[in-house]
Amino acid sequence: MTTDLWPQVERLLRESGRSIERPTRYLNHEWGCTYKPDAAYRFCMVYPDTYELGQANQAVRILCNRVNLVEGMAAERAYVPADDMADAMRAAGIPAFSMESCAPIAEFDAVGITLPHELAATNVLQLLDLAGIPLRTENRTENDPLVMGGGPCVLNAEPYAPFFDVLMLGEGEEVLPELLRMHRDMLAQGVSRADMLHAMAKVPGVYVPSLYDVVSEAEAQERGSWIVPKYDDIPTVIEKRIWEGFATSDAYEPQVVPYAELIHDRLNIEILRGCTRGCRFCQAGMMYRPVRERSADNIVAAAIRGLSETGYDEVSLTSLSTTDHSQIEDILRRLNRTFEGTGISVSIPSQRLDSFGVDMAELVAGGKRGGLTFAPEAGTQRLRDVINKNVTEEDLFTAVRASFEAGWRRCKLYFMIGLPTETDDDIKGIASLVQRAYDVAKQATPEGQRGNIRMSASCALFVPKAQTPFQWDGQIAPEEAIRRINLLRNSVKYRAIDIHWHAPDVSQVEAMMSRGGREVADVVEAAWRKGEHFDAWTEKFSLDAWKEACAECGVDFEGTAQRTYDTDYIPPWAHLSLGIQTRYFQRERQLADEAKTTPDCTYEHCTVCGVCMGLGSKIQLQGVRS
Ligand code: SF4
Repeated sequence: MTTDLWPQVERLLRESGRSIERPTRYLNHEWGCTYKPDAAYRFCMVYPDTYELGQANQAVRILCNRVNLVEGMAAERAYVPADDMADAMRAAGIPAFSMESCAPIAEFDAVGITLPHELAATNVLQLLDLAGIPLRTENRTENDPLVMGGGPCVLNAEPYAPFFDVLMLGEGEEVLPELLRMHRDMLAQGVSRADMLHAMAKVPGVYVPSLYDVVSEAEAQERGSWIVPKYDDIPTVIEKRIWEGFATSDAYEPQVVPYAELIHDRLNIEILRGCTRGCRFCQAGMMYRPVRERSADNIVAAAIRGLSETGYDEVSLTSLSTTDHSQIEDILRRLNRTFEGTGISVSIPSQRLDSFGVDMAELVAGGKRGGLTFAPEAGTQRLRDVINKNVTEEDLFTAVRASFEAGWRRCKLYFMIGLPTETDDDIKGIASLVQRAYDVAKQATPEGQRGNIRMSASCALFVPKAQTPFQWDGQIAPEEAIRRINLLRNSVKYRAIDIHWHAPDVSQVEAMMSRGGREVADVVEAAWRKGEHFDAWTEKFSLDAWKEACAECGVDFEGTAQRTYDTDYIPPWAHLSLGIQTRYFQRERQLADEAKTTPDCTYEHCTVCGVCMGLGSKIQLQGVRS
C-alpha cells in the first residue's frame, strides 16, 4: 500500500494562494499518462529540473514507456519542485512526490535520475534531500530505494559517483528494464543490498561506483586507470549499451500532454539516432554511434498517430542531425502533403549547412517562416577544419541565400570561442563571415523587405568534454574569453547584426565538472550545501559558491577546467568506454593540429573509430546518403 500525498499537496496548493508559481507543475493525471496502481514493483523516473523542462525530455518519456510495458511494473515521473514549492513542502513536512500517484519518492523500489548536463548535479542532491533519501550510497540502508543514474554525464561519471548506487552507460531502453527485473527478483528473494549491487555490477553497461577504489593521479597514469575493482569478478572497463532494436522499433512514443506549458511543447518523433559527422568537440556525436535510421513509412505513420492522440499542432522530427536522414525529403514531402491546410507544422531542431538547399528551405516548416539557426561554429576555414566541422563558407552562403529567397527574414548563427588552436584571426573571421552572410541575405531579399532582416551571432565558450578528441584540451581563462568576445564585438561593423554571448562563469563550472574526478563529488555536495541548485538558471547560479566549495574541498577549480594534457594522459573516465578506441581520439586530435578533416562514415568509408567492431554493432541506413 503506497502513501497518497495528494490530499496534503492539494491543501498546500489551495492554501498557498498565488504564492506558489505555476501550480500546474504539480498536478497529476495529465492526458495520456500511464497509471498502474496495482503494480507490485514501482520505479520513479526523475528529471533533475522543473516540470517544464523535464516533461519535454525524450529520455524520460522513452524509459517510462519501456518500464510500463513490463508486466507488474509501474513507472512514474517526478521533477524537482521550484523553490517556492520546496519551501512550502518542507514547512508542511511533505516529501518529494511522484506525478502519477502523488506518492513519496522514497517509497518506490527504485529511483532513476537522468543526468542531462553538468549543471544538473546539485539538483540531484536537492531532489534526494527533499525525498528524504540519503545523499550518498554509503549511507543508504536496505529500506531505501535503489538510486540509479544514466544519461550524457555518465560519460564521466566520477563527479556523480558517490550519489548513485548504480549508473548505466549508453542507451537505456534494454538495460533499464533488465536491471529492474533483476532488482525485483532479488528483492523477492531477500538478497541484501550489498549482494544486489555486486550482482548488478556484472551486467554489461552497468557501473557500480562503490565497488571500485579510486587511486591517485600518479598511480592512475602508471596503471592506465583511476579505479581498482574491489572484486575480481567485476569489469575494469565498463562498455556502453546500444539498443540494436532502435531502427525497426515503432517511431511513435506515447506522449503525455501537460496542463502546463513546456519549453518544447509539441509532438516529438525521433527519426534517427547517432551522428558521425565527427565534430571533434561534440560529445553527443561520440556517444550515440553508430548511426541508425528509422524508415520513412514508420516516421510518417508515427507523426499521424501521435498528432491524433495528443492534439498537438506541431511535430518535430528530432535527432542530432535530422537533415542527414537518407529519406528526409520524402518524409517532409509526405508530411507536408498530409497536413496541408490543417494548420499543423513540421519542424526540425537545427539545420545542417551543407544539406540545406532550396528544396529543403521550401519543405521545412511548410508555409511558416520563423527563425532559422545554423552552426558554422568557427569563423575561418582553418578552424572549421581543426574541429572537423566539414562545412565551407559557401555552404553557409548557399543556405542563407536559399532561406531568404524562400521568405525567411531571421537567421541566427552559432559559434564557439576558445576552441583549440584559435587565434585572433579566427575571431575576426567570425565578424567577417557574419557580415558577408548578411550581405547575401540582403541580396536575396526584395528591396522593400530588407528592413525586416535580422541576423545574429551567438557565441558560447568552448567546454572540453570527456570522450571526445578534445578531452585533453584545457578551457581558456575567463579573462581571455572576455578579451576575445570584445575583439569580436569591435570587429563587427554592421549595426544590424546582433552579437550575443554567454558569460564564461557557467562554462567554467561545466568544464570543471566535465573533466574532474571523484573528488569533484565533494565539491558538488559542498556547493549544494551553500544553496546551489538550479545552476542552469542564470539568476540562481553563483560562481563564488562553486569556487568556495572547490577551495574547501581542496580541488583546483581553474586547473581542472583549464589544464591541457598530452594525449597519452589517462583521464578520470578512462574506465568508461563508448567503444571508441583511445587511439582514434588521439589520431583525431593530431589531425586537428594539422587542420585535416575526417569524413563522415555514413557518406564515405569507415574511419575505424572502433564502435562497430568493438560493440558488435553496425550503421543502419534506409537509403544512400548523398
Ligand atoms: S566503426 Fe566505422 S562505420 Fe562504425 S561508427 Fe565508427 S567510423 Fe562509423
